[in-house]
Amino acid sequence: MSNRVVVVTGGSRGIGAATSMLAAERGYAVLVNYAGDVAAAEAVCAKIHSSGGTALMVQGDVSHEPDIDRIFEAADRMGRLVGLVNNAGIVDATARVEDFDFARLLRMFSVNTLGTILCSGRAVKRMSTRYGNQGGCIVNVTSAAAKLGSPGTYVDYAASKGAVDTFTVGLALEVAAEGIRVNGVSPGIIDTDIHASSGDPGRAARMAHDLPMGRTGTALEVAQAILWLMSGEASYTTGSVINVGGGRGIIP
Ligand code: NAP
Repeated sequence: MSNRVVVVTGGSRGIGAATSMLAAERGYAVLVNYAGDVAAAEAVCAKIHSSGGTALMVQGDVSHEPDIDRIFEAADRMGRLVGLVNNAGIVDATARVEDFDFARLLRMFSVNTLGTILCSGRAVKRMSTRYGNQGGCIVNVTSAAAKLGSPGTYVDYAASKGAVDTFTVGLALEVAAEGIRVNGVSPGIIDTDIHASSGDPGRAARMAHDLPMGRTGTALEVAQAILWLMSGEASYTTGSVINVGGGRGIIP
């Protein structure tokens, strides 16, 4: 049993994988949640185990409530929950608003927004002093898209992340006196597989030169901001959304 358990949703690839591995390096026992790619989750856990860390992979769809319960019950068996990183997120094919259908929007908002809110509720129950617990941290992975709006690409994704920004502020204030800090990181263009999910695998590389710093970010650079927000160094920081976009998204 550990007294420093962190749940990383979508902890098996991209930003989530980097976060899982860095959290393990910093001494957290990590619940690595994934949706379908077993091999990727196994690879992350194997890396953590080979460095002497603790990790447990748990399949579960954050848009499916029974799965969410299963994820947090598995975390309970690992020890005391002190952190949640709401990282799991999806995009969809590039499309204009008039081409969106209900099924697409339901999936987008269910994973990106509702999953984040529902997982946070489970974490609050386990961390809040209101329920006799000792506090903790929640970090939401939002997006620069929330401010930029992503016109002509995926406005629905941007809106689902805009809701996460607002939720971050609201929950931070709701639990500020209960020992829980709630913050967000807002990545710009990070070189992960997510761009392939929009049908445009070359998106990140193509955009690199037009970004303020002339390059895309790495998953590790986002993970480092997440781990800082979870650390004691951020003890007076709550309700913040930190831009980790190399300057992208600062000026909408
Ligand atoms: P990624 O490489 O596509 O990885 C996504 C991760 O989320 C995978 O581990 C995936 O698991 C998991 N996942 C997907 N749907 C899930 C679900 N319904 N339930 C549980 N897990 C699920 O994505 P990424 O680029 O690292 O993005 C991570 C977060 O950063 C997302 O919230 C994304 O919106 C945000 N973000 C990314 C960028 C960027 O440029 N990359 C920019 C801004 C914000 P499986 O592999 O098992 O499906």
